[in-house]
Amino acid sequence: MSCVHRGESVRIAETLVGKGVFAERCYPSGAIVGEITGEVVRYTDGSNYSFEIDEHSQLEPFPPFRYLNHSCEPNCEFDWIEEATYSDQPVLYVIALRDIQSGEELTIDYNWPASFAIPCCCGAGTCRGWIVSCDELDDVPANAQRLIRESR
Ligand SMILES: [Zn+2]
Repeated sequence: MSCVHRGESVRIAETLVGKGVFAERCYPSGAIVGEITGEVVRYTDGSNYSFEIDEHSQLEPFPPFRYLNHSCEPNCEFDWIEEATYSDQPVLYVIALRDIQSGEELTIDYNWPASFAIPCCCGAGTCRGWIVSCDELDDVPANAQRLIRESR
């Protein structure tokens, strides 16, 4: 795949599930789509957009990658690069999992634990039905039933 443009080029646009992030150029498989910047907050101060760094802290990402949506067949993933040239801290990147065309929505797999699972409507052929880690999928129905019981 040959890509003419270099550098990060994405835009935020509305989707059926709120804001989403879209490619404004093509990215070949394995390319760095962009760097996730954000603010490290205490674990208990995280929002729906933040993700776990360790048991004490979460990363509250800044736009645009704050708005990456979940897909059960994502075209991107997060990866920590330990030795970035300009930082002594590990840097979190968005990496293309396959060739991505300009205009495609960028998605990642949230891999949530079963206790956070919500129904998924990503539309992928392999949609798991829930936004949840593959490993935790078996735990979802019981968990969802428990939540229903508790809400009565
Ligand atoms: Zn899905």
